[in-house]
Amino acid sequence: MSPAACVIGWPVEHSRSPVIHNYWLKTCRIAGEYRREAVPPDQFRDFLQSLAARGYVGANLIFPHKEAALAWSQPDDRARSVGAANTLWLDGVLRATNTDVQGFLDNLDACAPDWHRDCHTAIVLGAGGAARAVVYGLLERGALRIVVINRTLRRAQALQEWFGSRVHVAAWEDRNQRLAQAKLLVNATKLGMPGQPELAVDIARLPVDAAVADLVYVPLITPLLRAAMARNLRTADGLGMLLRQAVPQFQLWYGARPEITKELRCLLEQDLMVPQPRAPE
Ligand code: NAP
Repeated sequence: MSPAACVIGWPVEHSRSPVIHNYWLKTCRIAGEYRREAVPPDQFRDFLQSLAARGYVGANLIFPHKEAALAWSQPDDRARSVGAANTLWLDGVLRATNTDVQGFLDNLDACAPDWHRDCHTAIVLGAGGAARAVVYGLLERGALRIVVINRTLRRAQALQEWFGSRVHVAAWEDRNQRLAQAKLLVNATKLGMPGQPELAVDIARLPVDAAVADLVYVPLITPLLRAAMARNLRTADGLGMLLRQAVPQFQLWYGARPEITKELRCLLEQDLMVPQPRAPE
């Protein structure tokens, strides 16, 4: 049977992972499949338990499942330390890892080399599964001070408790006041995606040598990135991270290490230019 994997989310229609993995299946000449699976939180556990019966060798997890997945799988050290998983694979048991960390760091290194030099303070907007990977990655790379700012303060505080004293929290309403200290600003919220409000943040307050990363990739150039580009700040888009986190996933599921080619990036950019249907609220 040809290997099949899927992306599981709620909603999931916006995901461009199928474009990536199906391109690699074709270019690597592997007779596999990759599909979208829309699974609400209350059906997530049952879906994971039936993964093998559905013919899947593994899955990519997007919101809101990344944190919940740890309870229903055997996480490796990376996923356990992050507190979230984005990748599952079957190996007798259901295993979990997190490739978002490396995808985020590799993309930031490629788009804003030396971002970590003099990066005394980084601000991370959001405190969900993706924000966990970002905070873990920044700590791993030596960030001295990370301020997590989230709409729901309690969730930001949970990250502070989890990751320790280099992580601080601030109220969502105070996000603009904090920007003057930040050499790196990361949007790890859903704001800016189809069906979501724009992220309201005053980029003018960032230092001139700050870098800005947006994890949102639909649209490709988010209003946040556009505003940062208008100020000539270094930027890292969500598509670069999406591509990089997908490489180790493909290798786990299909056994070959794929390449991120210019052709693939162009294909995705064209796909993202097609007007998007609004995702359910
Ligand atoms: P999640 O666990 O569901 O977390 C969502 C986050 O967005 C939470 O911090 C939530 O705040 C915040 N949020 C949602 N609606 C908001 C609103 N109206 N105002 C303010 N904050 C709001 O999702 P996730 O998995 O962390 O994903 C977050 C984003 O990262 C998504 O856009 C996703 O596509 C993107 N992402 C991209 C990549 C990539 O490779 N480019 C990888 C991973 C994730 P509350 O806690 O207050 O609800």
